[in-house]
Amino acid sequence: PPRNSTAARDIAYALHPYTDHKAHLVNGPLVINRGKGVKVYDDQGKDYIESVAGLWCASLGFDNERLVNAAAEQMRKLPFYHSFTGKSHEPMVDLAEMLIERAPAPMSKVFFANSGSEANDSVIKMLWYMHNAIGKPEKKKIISRLKGYHGITLASASLTGLPANHRLFDLPLPGFIHVGTPHHYHNAKPGESEEDFATRLANELEEVILREGAETICAFYAEPFMGAGGVIIPPPTYFEKVQAVLRRHDILFCVDEVIAGFFRTGNYWGSQTFNIQPDILVCAKALSAAYLPISAVMVSERVFQGIAEGSSTVGTWGHGFTYSGHPVPAAVAIETLKIYDEVDMLGHVRKVGPYMQAQLRERFAGHPLVGEVRGVGLVAAVELVEDKAGAKNFDPAKKVGPRLTKLAEKHGVIMRAMTNDSMGFSPPLIITEPEIDEMLDRVGKALDELTVELRR
Ligand code: PLP
Repeated sequence: PPRNSTAARDIAYALHPYTDHKAHLVNGPLVINRGKGVKVYDDQGKDYIESVAGLWCASLGFDNERLVNAAAEQMRKLPFYHSFTGKSHEPMVDLAEMLIERAPAPMSKVFFANSGSEANDSVIKMLWYMHNAIGKPEKKKIISRLKGYHGITLASASLTGLPANHRLFDLPLPGFIHVGTPHHYHNAKPGESEEDFATRLANELEEVILREGAETICAFYAEPFMGAGGVIIPPPTYFEKVQAVLRRHDILFCVDEVIAGFFRTGNYWGSQTFNIQPDILVCAKALSAAYLPISAVMVSERVFQGIAEGSSTVGTWGHGFTYSGHPVPAAVAIETLKIYDEVDMLGHVRKVGPYMQAQLRERFAGHPLVGEVRGVGLVAAVELVEDKAGAKNFDPAKKVGPRLTKLAEKHGVIMRAMTNDSMGFSPPLIITEPEIDEMLDRVGKALDELTVELRR
């Protein structure tokens, strides 16, 4: 890159998340300068459709003036205040009230943090604290699932069930247990129906609970669909069966709606799409349309009572962030939720979501490199395989998914490759049918080029 360009200075100074830095020193970054609607533009002026809304988050696209104004107005009025030791301010309270009104199950209180990882760490510390507070300090273990993703800090990465996030970091921490992934395509036994597969997974969960002792387990943690693990859609009846097991053993259900929340699955919450009645709900990302960092934890009255109990039994809950409930991201989130209501985002996603699902299947399901097209609402994955009949993935060393990502970039679409070369689709919620066509035209060209490359 030219001397003193952003790209050259990036190579000189920036340490990136999830980046092969040896390759980065040679190839340099893709520098994004501006955005408009569902597109972003690089420093050469080339446009890209964002097929995953950045990191599953830019729900309203990249040029929403109302959100800019909401932030500016709040900055002029009260640019910062905190919520420690009983301090408060209107944006935090308004947002908490709006979330409780919209929750998929009765919720009592809302705690704010800055990221999904922090929110999930906060939940872990709520759970441990509340069980100490009510005299059950041994009820401490948490069950989550292989391939689930819940964040990257030491505790939230322990909830995460992806080997790459554990390996080399001595994770998971003790007391974090992982059960099987509800992915019928790869994990069902030959001939096993989706419902039988769901029953088997629920039975396996119960076996783990009985083996460990229910009195040592406080919570089960799950995304409604697994996002970063590859957009894995649970089989019908899975969550009903899991929830029944948890109720039998008095284990709380924590739902991680960081990606699924705010219409992604064709309902306000993923919990509604998959019949989950959570005791604790975590959201982030589309909460503020990604314009500023903010995450929220909603807790039921029962959980709140446990936490409140602690003040008299074990002392004050020693947890919180400088920016918990920061007024500026809170103001942006309030505006975001108002926009969702005003534009009838639910109606929009229910219209364009099925269109995207149908187009993905029509265009790619029959492709020799495509093993499975799966999805719901406005989220999907196209999984690339070496052997279509045998559902066999490519050797990861071949980096087939990342190669498609690179080719897609050339054709003007930013894609995301996940485990098993699953290509994610989670575009800004505002995407239109013609834009879905344009996105899939570009992806199609990249896939054709990859097919030719792999034949060589
Ligand atoms: N939970 C889920 C389901 C996520 O997808 C993510 C991030 O992608 C997180 C938690 C972590 O959020 P953050 O990256 O904001 O810490």
